[in-house]
Amino acid sequence: MHPFTYTKAADTREALVAGGRGGRYIAGGTTLVDLMRETVERPGALVDISGLPLREVTVTGRGGLRIGALVRMAEAAAHPEVRSGYPLVSQALELSASAQLRNMATIGGNIMQRTRCTYFRDVTAVCNKREPGSGCAALHGFNRGHAILGTSDSCVATHPSDLAVALTALDADVHLLGREGERTVPFAEFLLRPGSTPNREQAVRPGELIIAVEIPAHPRPLKSGYLKVRDRQSYEFALTSAAVALHIRGGVVREAKVAAGGVGTVPWRLPAVERRLIGGRPSDGLWAEAAEYAADGARPLAYNGFKAELLKRTVERQLRIVGGTA
Ligand code: SF4
Repeated sequence: MHPFTYTKAADTREALVAGGRGGRYIAGGTTLVDLMRETVERPGALVDISGLPLREVTVTGRGGLRIGALVRMAEAAAHPEVRSGYPLVSQALELSASAQLRNMATIGGNIMQRTRCTYFRDVTAVCNKREPGSGCAALHGFNRGHAILGTSDSCVATHPSDLAVALTALDADVHLLGREGERTVPFAEFLLRPGSTPNREQAVRPGELIIAVEIPAHPRPLKSGYLKVRDRQSYEFALTSAAVALHIRGGVVREAKVAAGGVGTVPWRLPAVERRLIGGRPSDGLWAEAAEYAADGARPLAYNGFKAELLKRTVERQLRIVGGTA
């Protein structure tokens, strides 16, 4: 492993000073330590933020839910407010990683995690994300698990987080703290598409610290759920996934929020599906018609063309489950 210095921040001010000098924040360490062992990442300084007071889940004055950046995935999934108000978030967390990892990994770390593209983690392969300008081994390599939406000629890697798909569907915000103070970034703008700079993955400024994610208030009742399709039933990343939240009143879909995972370079919101749903009466026919729009704009690669059809079926099935006709 590359040599590095280690500092445990006593408070937020100390963390920001060390982060401003180029230190990398670490808490659960479940992604970063792996990447350091594989020499994919070689930070010169680590700033341990695990002692900072960012471990609360609170209902906001506006009726939304704020989850501190250092809340563990398992804690968030089990929290009564998350389970009752946003089952979609609980399910996405419980279907992620393994029980051991969920007990260590934090919410902030989860949305900062890096791609599972095997070429990214293989330091002998070319990879624009790891080494800008070197090329993309996946473009003409074995790209069965790669993205069909939001890709560029520079990178076709999927974003691996299930939680991020749920937060995208629910219009969440990310709260960041820097030396100049706090700012809020809509989650839809937080994760960046690769374009020509796939090494830039999040809208985080140098030295900024994620302090919380916030899910805004939604009309009640909001029925929601997360479906993940993968090669094996446990400890595996999504081939496709669907995050669905529906507000149904008087027998009509009044609001629909649908996002997909495993298919995009970032979690992929499906506005055409949502438009077809709103104003419709819940039925198997409505779900099937709406799901037909799920893969709009897809650009499959040599080995992942199956994902377009799989995505439509995943969305349709989850609409049936959440909409109550399954
Ligand atoms: Fe690297 Fe992205 Fe290409 Fe994978 S898909 S090799 S992460 S540039």
